[in-house]
Amino acid sequence: MNPFIWPHGKSAWCPGTAPPDSDPAAIRAESCAVRPRLRARASDLHNRSVSKKSKKPKGAPRRPAARPALTAADPCPCGRDAVYGDCCAPFHRGDAAAPTAERLMRSRYAAFATGDTAYLLRTWHPSTRPATLDLDAERRWTGLDILATTGGSAFHTEGTVEFCAHSTWRGTADSQHENSRFVREDGAWVYVDALDGP
Ligand SMILES: [Zn+2]
Repeated sequence: MNPFIWPHGKSAWCPGTAPPDSDPAAIRAESCAVRPRLRARASDLHNRSVSKKSKKPKGAPRRPAARPALTAADPCPCGRDAVYGDCCAPFHRGDAAAPTAERLMRSRYAAFATGDTAYLLRTWHPSTRPATLDLDAERRWTGLDILATTGGSAFHTEGTVEFCAHSTWRGTADSQHENSRFVREDGAWVYVDALDGP
């Protein structure tokens, strides 16, 4: 089973990556080849969760490891070359609004990585927003590649962002490809839905 949790059914496997039932090592090698810098970040996050997990006493019931706490000085999970405190943290706190559709997309990816469901819901268009959002605690988001954008600037009211989101689920590499649609409502970008056929 592919434990896909991006919150709708229109995503697909990223181009060039293997299908869900392929050899996990081959999937990892392929998706990690996309961007070595992100691979380094991914392993940082992974190592932290592993070290937390290893402190648990032997014989304890198997539970998903807690998400690694992110500090302002950590690299932002969204993939920009910036620390979290200077990048997506102000958006997540509500101190600023993402200026472009791409920045909103990146900040939403970072919110998936940090488990910030409140931010995900408030940056979701009311017409498509779910009542609640339950994130899979066993998924670790390991990197984001922005593939293409249209519109989405301060001069637009609509935009699209095509991306490939990388993660692991119970240690197996996974990736999702989607072309997302965004609109600007009352000056703030919000996510609407996924376009068909990414
Ligand atoms: Zn960021």
